Amino acid sequence: MNLHEYQARALLRAAGIPMLEGDVAGSPEEAEAVARSLGGPVVVKAQVHAGGRGKAGGVKLAATPAEARQHASRILALTIKGLPVRKVLVVPAAEIASESYVGLILDREAQRPVFMVSAAGGVDIEEVAARTPEKISRLAVDPRYGLFPHQALGLALTLYRDFSQVKATAKIMQQLGRAFVENGASLAEINPLATTPDGRVLALDAKIVIDDNELDRRPDLAALRDESAEAPSEVAARRAGLTYIQLDGNVGCVVNGAGLAMATMDLVKYYGGAPANFLDIGGSSNPEKVVNALRILTSDPQVKAILFNIFGGITRTDDVAKGIVTTLGQLEVRVPIVIRLTGTNEQEAIRILRNAGMTALSDMDQAVQQAVALARSGVPV
Ligand code: GDP
Ligand code: MN
Repeated sequence: MNLHEYQARALLRAAGIPMLEGDVAGSPEEAEAVARSLGGPVVVKAQVHAGGRGKAGGVKLAATPAEARQHASRILALTIKGLPVRKVLVVPAAEIASESYVGLILDREAQRPVFMVSAAGGVDIEEVAARTPEKISRLAVDPRYGLFPHQALGLALTLYRDFSQVKATAKIMQQLGRAFVENGASLAEINPLATTPDGRVLALDAKIVIDDNELDRRPDLAALRDESAEAPSEVAARRAGLTYIQLDGNVGCVVNGAGLAMATMDLVKYYGGAPANFLDIGGSSNPEKVVNALRILTSDPQVKAILFNIFGGITRTDDVAKGIVTTLGQLEVRVPIVIRLTGTNEQEAIRILRNAGMTALSDMDQAVQQAVALARSGVPV
């Protein structure tokens, strides 16, 4: 679950990380009022679940409260990476001497949280990683002990020479490490971690992603979810108990099981196509899940063909077939559907589909190739 910057700031601030106090605003007038109460120049920042807001015009410096109102009015009308801006954060403008990057991510390969720090901060860290990876230092942390003081100092020394800044930064890294663990984060980053001309070290941005598995035991974190800031299809999928991630391809995939779903996406790519989504309808047998899945996929205009890949075990393929037939009775599906199913009650599934004028394949390769070809030619059925 993504947090907004203002929410992430509150968690990092609670961990003791130094940052300037600000407030969120939902209208230009509110932004002006916050700027007035802060006094002095402010920064107005779009609150959306996307990075690169600065480049997209979502971060603006304002010298006066009136200017803050004007910026807020423009920023609140923006859509950044497809996400509408509904709130802005207004914070006192800091004077910046240098910008670093300090982040902590759960690295599944290392099976540990890994600190990543770079003196090349402020900009897109993905770009730094791609072009000049030598500018990033990494350190895997033993989750039993967290970041030791000497490790924090070692990392901070790669960023600064001034020893008071090194010590301040080492402390911030340890606080970030604790906040990461205590909040069940899969990512926590400060970019930029800035130094000011008078030598202070300040977090000017905050990004936290909470592991969804943490939410059941942490209602306080779960309450931070802002559905209005999420893709509508992902909200609908979560409500329907489906694991769904929207991607930018055109082959809609409906699969049972996360492993098979990923293998299916790999195969779609292998045959020259691009998956429109990751979707795991889960192991249970429930035609309703299929109905919901098709509803979500058909509402994505990018989807040009839909591929079912069902390996029946606990999932009964006849239930999936019933779900498909039920949906087609309720919903006008304008794109071709390719169905591959095999396993539990497969004969019954084939009979149900045949009665409704559809066919099912049993070979996964063949089904994927067909779906990729249909998505490309865009032939409606
Ligand atoms: P992002 O682009 O979404 O990561 O948004 P950031 O919060 O990182 O802001 C982008 C850039 O705006 C930063 O890298 C800074 O260069 C600049 N910026 C942000 N806050 C301040 C501030 O208080 N003062 C100044 N002078 N620049 C700021
Ligand atoms: Mn940033």
